[in-house]
Amino acid sequence: MSQKPALPGDKVAIIEEFETGPNTFDDGQSIRSSVVGITEFDKANRIAKITELKKPAVPKAGDIIIGNVSALMNNMFAINILYINGKANHSGLECICQAKGAKKRILARVSDIIMIKMICLLNGVMHATISEPELGVLFTQCNKCGGKVVALGGNVKCIDCGYIEERKLSTKFGNSDFIKLSSN
Ligand SMILES: [Zn+2]
Repeated sequence: MSQKPALPGDKVAIIEEFETGPNTFDDGQSIRSSVVGITEFDKANRIAKITELKKPAVPKAGDIIIGNVSALMNNMFAINILYINGKANHSGLECICQAKGAKKRILARVSDIIMIKMICLLNGVMHATISEPELGVLFTQCNKCGGKVVALGGNVKCIDCGYIEERKLSTKFGNSDFIKLSSN
């Protein structure tokens, strides 16, 4: 649908032309939206209504998130959320994963696909953890040549150039069907 959604308070019609339908109100002159949604006009019954758009799902404590690492910072990194409990999420939300000891050890690299668990929402920021065996990197590539890597203890080794680098791997690393992993 190419139509821009109506926002709460947006004028969608004038009262001479339409009656208020679901998710609309009448301010005496205009019919306005009371929600974020798509406006529809029932021309036969002269009713304006708004179909409310679903709010993007926000993860709660304990939810398993799969996403890609978007930024590395001191002692933490940002993850762009792709899946919450196995369901695709298009919210564009990011969460922050605490990574104590990350200065000494490489836990993940930007663009790695990673599984983390939500801990809490603090000051509007979602915090997650990577410190459980099944949490960690699910998919990564060689940082030198972009080649395919295999797990080697607490590291990954490139099968093309032999480069070895540290990672906090998930116990599910190497299972390319990672989309289904967080749903069970
Ligand atoms: Zn390589």
